[in-house]
Amino acid sequence: MNQNLCFFCSKDLKKGGDFVQNREGMLLCKTCVETATDIFNRKTAWDKDPVKKGTGAKKPNFKRIIEKFSPKDIYDALSEYIIGQDTAKKVVSLAVYNHYKVLSLIDQTDVEFEKSNILLLGPTGSGKTLIARTLSKILQIPFAIGDCTSYTEAGYVGDDVENVLLSLLIDANYEVEEAERGIIYLDEIDKKAKSGGNVSISRDVSGEGVQQAFLKLIEGTVANVPLTAGRKNPMSQQVAKVDTKHILFICGGAFNGLEKIIAKRLHTSAGMGFTADPMPKTIADFRLFHKVEPPDLIEYGFIPEFVGRLPVKVALNGLERNDFIKILKEPKNSLIRQFSKLFEMDGCELVFTDDGLEKLVDVALSEKIGARGLRDVFERVLREEMFSLRETKISGVKVDAQFVDKALEFLDTNSSKEGRVSPKSSNPTIEAAVAG
Ligand code: ADP
Repeated sequence: MNQNLCFFCSKDLKKGGDFVQNREGMLLCKTCVETATDIFNRKTAWDKDPVKKGTGAKKPNFKRIIEKFSPKDIYDALSEYIIGQDTAKKVVSLAVYNHYKVLSLIDQTDVEFEKSNILLLGPTGSGKTLIARTLSKILQIPFAIGDCTSYTEAGYVGDDVENVLLSLLIDANYEVEEAERGIIYLDEIDKKAKSGGNVSISRDVSGEGVQQAFLKLIEGTVANVPLTAGRKNPMSQQVAKVDTKHILFICGGAFNGLEKIIAKRLHTSAGMGFTADPMPKTIADFRLFHKVEPPDLIEYGFIPEFVGRLPVKVALNGLERNDFIKILKEPKNSLIRQFSKLFEMDGCELVFTDDGLEKLVDVALSEKIGARGLRDVFERVLREEMFSLRETKISGVKVDAQFVDKALEFLDTNSSKEGRVSPKSSNPTIEAAVAG
């Protein structure tokens, strides 16, 4: 044995370089130690979770996803985070299972499959985004959200549709092949319905152009995704080519006014009478969304090709008081658990009474932004207490109805002292003055 050579790669260590040595004088150079560590890390990551993305793990193997998860497994995992919405959870679990089943067959069959892209219809704050995000978390695949209201046709001021691919690529640690098998959630797709003679007033003039751009992405195109800043200067750009053929697209929207189109087709009534607010008014109106058919969406302002590319359509229900209470208590990452943990880290036990929870839900319901309002209420009600916890060093806080009332009253008084109005204010004149 040559005393100066690395036992593995035979590099001559007399010429320099770090190494480790055992009692027998056997040498191992730094490069070989690092390579071995990397191999072990990859193996550990793979053993722990064969579909895990990220550094070192093997590229996605879709057979393993479908071996690990049946549609019911996906549904059960979704249910740990999402309250209610049973039909949506079932339909989505099956569509996603089928999607990865098809991906696992690529190059192995002559049968041509269409992608099971999904359209989620339901009121704001009912869990559409949460379903899409949780899916990617369960399956450990790259995920990105695109906000459709910010997209315009190329050439208009605003974001290009392709921008969402950059977010996906970033989530995939710039591993193009992984990104190409990810999930993209396109939020507020309803805002891209064509304008013209229809129910909503908030349509975008370039709606049809953006739908065409989405259509290309959803059908499958090789998009050039600019990786560097200064995207308006093509000379200074680094570009990644991303094939979107196998990306699963989930689109979501509140589709205000669609209930009237469905009701007309079914000869029933919905959202009776004209009001300036085009939100669906009743639970019965939301239920109509379950009966949506492609012609309704076309009448709403979507081009037929686009509707055809979203073969799985499912409605989410408007959440009711009971659901709000469950959302506070039951999900794995419920707000009660999150805030209790934050308080606990400052040595304080946070306790909620039933009437405290009811009160928090009342406030959230009055904000009419679905379950999204709950977080906002928690932040406001607990803000003062959290702010001073390190100084006051109190060991417990009990959130009952009285506590909630007092906290909100305090915020109201304070914000009017500062010349601002509370978010609860419905006085448009004051709000306009504040905004100005
Ligand atoms: P949207 O339907 O507008 O996409 P989100 O999915 O973004 O609404 O919901 C906003 C927040 O409200 C979520 O992050 C979650 O905290 C809560 N939420 C909404 N719906 C549910 C639900 N069904 N179960 C549990 N939490 C929910």
